Amino acid sequence: MGPSVAIIGAGFGGLCMAIQLEKAGIRSYTIFEKGADVGGTWRDNTYPGAGCDTHSHLYSFSFERYSSRTRRYAGQPEILDYLRECADKYGLRPRIRLNTEVVSAVFDEPLGRWRVRTAAGEEVFDVVVSAIGQLNRPQLPDIPGISTFDGAAFHSARWDHSVDLSGRRVAVIGNGSSAAQLVPKVAEVAGQLDLFQRTPNWVLPKESADFGPRAQKILRLPFLHRVYREWVYRYAEHTLYPALAGGWSTDLVRRHALEHLHAQVPDPSLRAKLTPSYPLGCRRVVIDSDFYPALTRPNVDVVTDRIIRIVPGGVETVAGVREADAIIYATGFETSEFLSTIEVVGRDGRRLAEEWKDGAEAYLGIAVPHFPNLFLLYGPNTNLGHTSIVFMLECQVRYIMGCLPRLASRGPMEVRPEAMDTWRQNLDRDMKGMVWQAGCTSWYKNASGRITGNWPGNAAAYRRLTRTPRPEAFHFAR
Ligand code: NAP
Repeated sequence: MGPSVAIIGAGFGGLCMAIQLEKAGIRSYTIFEKGADVGGTWRDNTYPGAGCDTHSHLYSFSFERYSSRTRRYAGQPEILDYLRECADKYGLRPRIRLNTEVVSAVFDEPLGRWRVRTAAGEEVFDVVVSAIGQLNRPQLPDIPGISTFDGAAFHSARWDHSVDLSGRRVAVIGNGSSAAQLVPKVAEVAGQLDLFQRTPNWVLPKESADFGPRAQKILRLPFLHRVYREWVYRYAEHTLYPALAGGWSTDLVRRHALEHLHAQVPDPSLRAKLTPSYPLGCRRVVIDSDFYPALTRPNVDVVTDRIIRIVPGGVETVAGVREADAIIYATGFETSEFLSTIEVVGRDGRRLAEEWKDGAEAYLGIAVPHFPNLFLLYGPNTNLGHTSIVFMLECQVRYIMGCLPRLASRGPMEVRPEAMDTWRQNLDRDMKGMVWQAGCTSWYKNASGRITGNWPGNAAAYRRLTRTPRPEAFHFAR
C-alpha cells in the first residue's frame, strides 16, 4: 500500500512521480490538476511555433520514448500527446483530478499528516509532492495603460486562437524563447509585425531538420536510441555547460552565436541592435534558426525605443506611437515566487511564503526545514541553462521514492536546518563561478538579485547528490 501521496500538478513532474509510484505498486496517491487536462506548460503554451528547443530524445523520460520518432525537436502538440500517452499507458487517469486547484496544504502536527484543501473539500495525506513547475504563471509587463488598448491583447502562454492576425498590425512585446518561436509564424501572416525588444538575447542555431527514414529506422532500436540520447546529454554537459561556468568552451560558443547572427542578418544596423553586450548564458540563450530570418522580413521591425505606455491605438515609445491591431505579450512568467498560489503551512504554524520572503530555497531543491514530508519537484535552484529539465525531475523523483520507505517506518521526515545551511553555503560557493551573476537581469534571479532559479553544477553533479537520501540530513519523528 505505502504512504498516501498528494501530487500537485499533472505536467512532466507530477506524471513522472505518479508513474514511479505505480511502478513501486503504491496506488495510494492522487494528482490534483487545476487545468482541464494533463500536460502542464505544454497544455498551456499553444502559441504558433511552440515547441521545445532541447532534443526530444533527452526531453522525455529515460524510460519512455516518443511514439513518433520523426522530429529532432518536438513541437508542443507532440509533447502534449506524449504526456497524454504516458498518463494512459501507466494507468494514471483514475487518480488524476482535473479542474481541481489546491488552495492550501497544512501540516497537522498531532496527526503527522497533511490536510490538503481544494474547492471540493479537504483530504488528508502522509506526503505532499509539489509539481507545479517554475513557468506557469504568465507575467504581464508593468507598462502603464495596458487596459486602455482597443484591439486584441493576450499573453503568449494564453494564446487567443479566435483572433485572426492575417494582414493585421501586430505588436510583440518581449524577445525571449517564446517570442523567438512565435514571431516567425506570426510574421508569415501579419501585415506588419513590430517586435519590441528591451534587451537583445544571445541566439544559437537549432538544427531543426527532422530525421530521415534511415535515421528513424536506426533510432527505433532501443540500444541506438539510448546511444543517441547519451550523445545529446554528453554534448550538453561537456560543451554547453562549461560555457556557462567560464570554462573551455566560453569563447567557442560565443563565436558560434556571433557567426549565426552574421550568417542570418546581413544588415549591420539590425545586427548591432541584436548583439548583446553581456556574456553569453547570463540569461536563457534562445536556440532557434528561424528567429533572425523573420526579423529581416520587410514586414518586421525590431523596435528598441523605450516603451512609455500602451494607448488605445497601439504602443507609445519615446519615438512616438506604433499603431497596432493586436498586442502579444511574450513577457515571460512569475518565476521567483515558488508555490505562492498555495497556502502552505508547516510545523509550528510556519508559512512557506513567510519562510521564503527573502527568496525561495530548499535542500537539494526538494526539501524545506519545518515542512515535514513536503517534497518539491523543479523547486528552487534546480533549473538548468544547458540541458533537459526532465533529467532533473527524474533525479528528484528517484530521491523522493528513496524517502518513502524511510518516512513510512520512522514517521514524518524533515530536513535539518544544519543540512540546509550547508546546502546554501555550497550553492553560494558554486554560484560564484557562474555566468548568471554578472551584467544582466534575468528570471533566474529574484527581486533582491539572488539566483533562486538555477542549479550551478552540471546535471551529472545533481544526479550524484540526489542518488540516495542521506538519513543524517533529516530529523525523523520516530
Ligand atoms: P522571458 O525569456 O522571460 O522573456 C520575457 C521578455 O519580455 C523579455 O524579452 C523581456 O525583456 C520582455 N519584457 C518583460 N517585461 C517588459 C517590459 N515591461 N517592457 C518591455 N519588455 C519586457 O519569457 P519567455 O520567452 O516566455 O521564456 C521564459 C522561459 O520559458 C524561457 O527562458 C525558457 O526557459 C522557457 N521556454 C522554453 C522554450 C523551449 O523551447 N524549451 C520555449 C519557450 C520558453 P528583458 O529581456 O529586457 O527583460
